[in-house]
Amino acid sequence: MAGRSLPNILVTGTPGVGKSTTCQQLADASGLNWLNVGDIAEQNDCLDEFDERYGCRILNEDKVLDELEPRVAGGGAIVEYHGCDFFPERWFDIVFVLRTDNKLLYDRLAKRGYSGKKLEDNVQCEIFQTLLDEARDSYPADIVHELSSNTPDQVEENVERICQWIAAWKADRGLAPAPA
Ligand code: ADP
Repeated sequence: MAGRSLPNILVTGTPGVGKSTTCQQLADASGLNWLNVGDIAEQNDCLDEFDERYGCRILNEDKVLDELEPRVAGGGAIVEYHGCDFFPERWFDIVFVLRTDNKLLYDRLAKRGYSGKKLEDNVQCEIFQTLLDEARDSYPADIVHELSSNTPDQVEENVERICQWIAAWKADRGLAPAPA
């Protein structure tokens, strides 16, 4: 996908860390196209059988990749999902892993209605930095960045930082003036 005129960005992290909140604001601020992989999978029949333990249907990765490919091909996509090892590495110019303190995450997920194993497993996933490790295992180290997402102010700071990175990405390729 060399030669695209806008970058593709992956935003990942444990459920509840603020991916959708951040991506919504980032899409508004940058004009890039936010692709919520969970929603796209649901709307396009990319889900397999129901998993009783987790209370949700299993993602059909092949189907969702086929659905996403044309949407990321031209660049300018913000892809959001709580997993990242099944996307082609070539899709992304940068990867952000959002992180939240365990106690805050517990409260957010409980408020969302999670309980029992589902709540415990998701908080453990954050404690063990599962998504950060998955991102580091799946993409070049220099494009994987960890961002704290504990407060609304941090959402704003993160969005600003990513917008600055987009501006620099364009300037580096002669597609826009260098940022001031
Ligand atoms: P995700 O998409 O990662 O599952 P959401 O963006 O849906 O997470 O956020 C989960 C909940 O936490 C929402 O109620 C949201 O308002 C809140 N939230 C998300 N990020 C922050 C933050 N940085 N500070 C405070 N609350 C947040």
